[in-house]
Amino acid sequence: MNRVETELLVVGGGVAGAYAALTARSYGADVILACKTPLTGGSTRWAQGGIAAPLAPGDEDAHAQDTLKAGRGLCEPDAVHAFVRDARSHVETLRDLGVAFSPHVTLEGGHSRARIRHTGDATGHAISAALSGALQAARSPALTLLEGAFVRNLRVAGGAVVGADVLTRNGPVQVRAGAVLLATGGFGQLYPVTTAPPEGTGDGLGLAWQAGAALRDLEFVQFHPTAVVHDGTAHLVTEAARGEGGQLLNARGERFMQRYDPALELAPRDVVARAIAAEIAATGRVDLDLRHLGATFVRQRFPTVTASLARLGLDLGRDLIPVQPAVHYTMGGVQTDVQGRTTVPGLYAAGEVASSGLHGANRLASNSLSEGLVFGARAARAALSVLKVPPACTDGLPAPVTDPAALPALRAVVAQAAGLQRNAAGLRAALAAWAWPAATTGCRAALEAGHLAVIGELLLRSALAREESRGGHHRTEHAWEGAVAAHSVLVPGVGGRIQSVPVSPAVLGFTA
Ligand SMILES: Cc1cc2nc3c(=O)[nH]c(=O)nc-3n(C[C@H](O)[C@H](O)[C@H](O)COP(=O)(O)OP(=O)(O)OC[C@H]3O[C@@H](n4cnc5c(N)ncnc54)[C@H](O)[C@@H]3O)c2cc1C
Repeated sequence: MNRVETELLVVGGGVAGAYAALTARSYGADVILACKTPLTGGSTRWAQGGIAAPLAPGDEDAHAQDTLKAGRGLCEPDAVHAFVRDARSHVETLRDLGVAFSPHVTLEGGHSRARIRHTGDATGHAISAALSGALQAARSPALTLLEGAFVRNLRVAGGAVVGADVLTRNGPVQVRAGAVLLATGGFGQLYPVTTAPPEGTGDGLGLAWQAGAALRDLEFVQFHPTAVVHDGTAHLVTEAARGEGGQLLNARGERFMQRYDPALELAPRDVVARAIAAEIAATGRVDLDLRHLGATFVRQRFPTVTASLARLGLDLGRDLIPVQPAVHYTMGGVQTDVQGRTTVPGLYAAGEVASSGLHGANRLASNSLSEGLVFGARAARAALSVLKVPPACTDGLPAPVTDPAALPALRAVVAQAAGLQRNAAGLRAALAAWAWPAATTGCRAALEAGHLAVIGELLLRSALAREESRGGHHRTEHAWEGAVAAHSVLVPGVGGRIQSVPVSPAVLGFTA
């Protein structure tokens, strides 16, 4: 196996990984960035609505309050305050890198004022293009970009992460690194109907778990209220469509949100998603109606959604658009502090893979692109402050592998038991049915399936243990929030041998 050495290995080329790599380079560090997709892969480029940051210093408190309110008592205040303090200047950096934000700022659910910057409804595409362009321009012997490079396992020595094994187009490479920064995105692919791209298989959570790092709050899964599901694929209709005045109607043509929340269509996503599911169950369908906004305005404001729905034979400006909730964002992840440090030395995490404490039980719309900037930069800086390329590398940690053919059945189990509504009987039955058929090869698909199998079991256990409803976790038999807001924390056993680790109260702990 080829061996290379670097100060910082960044895994992932989405907003968090790309920005972390650029930050580390700006401090003069040697960086390798590995991503299993092209640089423009990941969820980042699919983001439509926009990027949230305080509009001016005077908006910081209000943005913090909105974020804390959405997080239902589980946000870490220091993470929220670091976020609102740093976000605006990083968004300005994006502008300097060429992202042409519209002068118009928009409103989305849970925000007390319009503060979402956007480039029409293709904000993620613009950000992804600007960041990957900046990375390509900065490519040098000190910045290696490995596209199509799959990180299959981490290497640990003396309790610290010291590198990783990467399957590249030219064969396997062992990377010895002073620090590894995971920016691998979320795990939406654990569910059958999701807006997440195929690469959203939660690899970073699996890698961190193997290395002994704690995972947090996996049961909190955000469903986007308005997806158009066609042939099993979820096509997102951005929340900004409701921000601009879009209305939800049931099959009887009634606008129903006033029965669920005074904020109507701009109530928190979990509230709107459950309301839509209830109305579909009661009346047969729910439609998003933008017709009163005028077809010309709608098509100009949302050209990406207009084009994606036109391929399904729907006219966003003139038709009622049949919508339903779909898994969209995973709040839980690798536990980090406000500097992106995980519980294992040498291992950092930022972006959707991390549980940074920003989102708590529910993410405020459009906070995740800016989270990637803020915590990508912080994690890169924290990693550089202690950098020392280790003298030796041990063997790679064993990675769980599962037959990818088993995934549809596993996904169906998770969707049934840990969807918008959960209960103990369903979660227990899901855990009893949870089986991981071993794969015969260690190919990428088997490794991705292995990560999803691990995460699925941990999510089901976390959801069963949380006997309350809060944010993105709703238990039918415990419909109210508990008196105390507590994180669920999963701590793997020595060596991260998940299959041999009983997830008992000693391992799955709740910490206030
Ligand atoms: C359809 C859609 C619309 C959205 N709209 C918005 C919005 O308007 N505003 C907002 O704030 N948020 C939005 N979000 C959420 C937001 O896009 C994501 O949370 C954010 O982009 C995540 O960025 P990231 O850098 O953490 O991960 P990603 O952008 O998902 O990137 C993950 C990277 O990790 C790499 N990777 C993964 N595993 C491995 C591995 N084993 N080895 C090597 N590389 C690996 C991938 O190749 C990829 O480069 C949206 C999400 C979706 C799906």
